[in-house]
Amino acid sequence: MTRAIIQPRRSDNAEQPPRKGRLIITIDGPAGAGKSTVARLLASSLGYLYLDTGALYRAVAWKIQASGVDPADEKGIAATLRCTRVRTEQHADRMHVYVDAQDLTDEIRRPEISRIASMVSALPSVRDWLLPVQRQAGSGGGVVAEGRDVGTRVFPSADVKFFLEADMEVRAARRHRELTAAGYAVPVDQTLQDLRDRDTQDRTREVAPLLPAPDAERIDTSALTVAQVIDRMMAVISSRL
Ligand code: C5P
Repeated sequence: MTRAIIQPRRSDNAEQPPRKGRLIITIDGPAGAGKSTVARLLASSLGYLYLDTGALYRAVAWKIQASGVDPADEKGIAATLRCTRVRTEQHADRMHVYVDAQDLTDEIRRPEISRIASMVSALPSVRDWLLPVQRQAGSGGGVVAEGRDVGTRVFPSADVKFFLEADMEVRAARRHRELTAAGYAVPVDQTLQDLRDRDTQDRTREVAPLLPAPDAERIDTSALTVAQVIDRMMAVISSRL
């Protein structure tokens, strides 16, 4: 399945109702809670689009860094974004991210980009700029979207909402395994500190802080296998299909 998402016009900003039977499913939670793994599996078994909204914030972070703009300079960032295009494409079970014409799918996973993404995601102008991109992707339904505010702000009327959480040590160990597998040699205690810093930043920012939506199903994944998490989620999804 290939669905291209391009920077939409301003008028595409409103949340669109999904088509019948094609649900909007949101998964929010902190880094390392297991969102990406289950979101990808759910999207592929339902034949839905997988929308990784964190990748869009990472794409913005990459552009800010590549342009030499200070991540705290909101005006400079807004000016940079005015001449930036972020585009995503669904390839099999993987979402590719392009900034302008460049495919940055792997590049945006660098630990340094994680830190900048967390900083720039606190800026209202960045969140506003990415809102229509995310909503356009979900328009028509048939999407599993993961992030920090997809159930609270991006798709407040989503059909099914989940909030995944896990103990900090479990999350750090998972993130460390991912980074090691991707070839980044980061000490585990630095991974833990990075997660703590990002958590604090994501939970305490004024705009769209990381919070469970009141109608979200909360799942603690610390002691669960991926299959057990998927089973719980599918039980909820099946009841709404
Ligand atoms: O999910 P991931 O770790 O790739 O996200 C990178 C950063 O992007 C997060 O730490 C968070 O600051 C930001 N983000 C966000 N809202 C989202 C998705 C990600 O603020 N919906």
